[in-house]
Amino acid sequence: MQEIHQSRKLADVLYDIRGPVLEEARRLEEQGQRIMKLNIGNPHPFGFEAPAEILVDVVRNLQESQGYSDSKGLRSARTAVVQHYQERGIDITNPDDVWLGNGVSELIQLALNALLDSGDEVLIPAPDYPLWSASTSLAGGAPVHYLCDEDDDWNPSFADLEAKLTPRTRAIVVINPNNPTGAVYSREVLRRIAEIAAERNLIVFADEIYDKILYDGAVHHTFAALAPDVLTLTFSGLSKAYRLAGFRSGWMVVTGPREHATSYLEGIEMLTNMRLCANVPAQHAIQTALGGRQSIRDLILPGGRLLAQRDAALEALAKIPGVSCVKPKGALYVFPKLDPQMYPIADDRRFVLDFLRAEHVLVVQGTGFSWPSTDHLRIVTLPWAKDLTEAIGRLGNFLSTYVPPKD
Ligand code: PLP
Repeated sequence: MQEIHQSRKLADVLYDIRGPVLEEARRLEEQGQRIMKLNIGNPHPFGFEAPAEILVDVVRNLQESQGYSDSKGLRSARTAVVQHYQERGIDITNPDDVWLGNGVSELIQLALNALLDSGDEVLIPAPDYPLWSASTSLAGGAPVHYLCDEDDDWNPSFADLEAKLTPRTRAIVVINPNNPTGAVYSREVLRRIAEIAAERNLIVFADEIYDKILYDGAVHHTFAALAPDVLTLTFSGLSKAYRLAGFRSGWMVVTGPREHATSYLEGIEMLTNMRLCANVPAQHAIQTALGGRQSIRDLILPGGRLLAQRDAALEALAKIPGVSCVKPKGALYVFPKLDPQMYPIADDRRFVLDFLRAEHVLVVQGTGFSWPSTDHLRIVTLPWAKDLTEAIGRLGNFLSTYVPPKD
């Protein structure tokens, strides 16, 4: 029979977090091996529970959730999002400036699909959260990566960012706190991005899904609050701070000048209508989540489980010769560097596969985040501290006898 090929649209789409290495992990599991999966930021499998009152509210509203909702989402939930951002200093009053989606993931795709024509460029940080790059490619655009500087606490390199602006640039993505680096940007850094965007009439996509996961007193500045002069789409949701990744519930908020963006916003409305609405039971979680006690604080303050795990990861990494790691100020990851002199890794995906086979620990290679060299790994800091210490100890073990493959 004639071969059925995937669409050529997928040719430039890079999405390795759930790629072939994960397939190998599955195969090993089927053989009865226990794999430590440190590859995705999914809190629940590591024993993180959502606040009970959110679950109760969703259950109570199930009866009312059988039909489609308004395509942008329940008004009560969107009003709660408006109030949440008012408290964060954003000039927003209208729930119609809020879209609810099946996770931030769906809204990212919607926002890019509505914007991009073939060859339009989107500036995305490197390392990236790969969905931004993949969705840009899928929407027909070109992801252009601006480097973040490890020697400068992973802040954006403005020299690089400015060098990559072209007449085709349409938008800048800012991920703050950052996945995978854990950087939390200062007011000055964000304002500098705002100035570049304002000058060039660019949209800023501010992915702030980790805005409440902060360590050591780090302060998160909501980009839109600092940039009333920039058309900004802010993204966040319930997956991380509320430990509800499986609910697929997120929001997107439009702020800043938009008289010149009527057509774009109509495009977003059309795509929103085409998918009818986001999962309705999960929309009922939003108001309770944002309005209730913010239990995430118990996890990130001294004595908190997430903080202890970040520290355990850093401590275990520091014990491995030739491995260094900038201390993450937020989010759920460490992004260590393996000294290329000591560990000459030519193919980091192969490295991660060999590590998986030898030590049964699954991590993601730096190039999976569009990092240009093969000398980084991303490790999720969700497992219990003792498990992280064990897993990173196994990395040390693997590296101590590491001989780069010949082929
Ligand atoms: N944005 C970033 C930076 C993420 O790290 C993730 C998930 O890991 C997402 C978006 C996806 O979020 P959601 O579960 O709301 O689709």
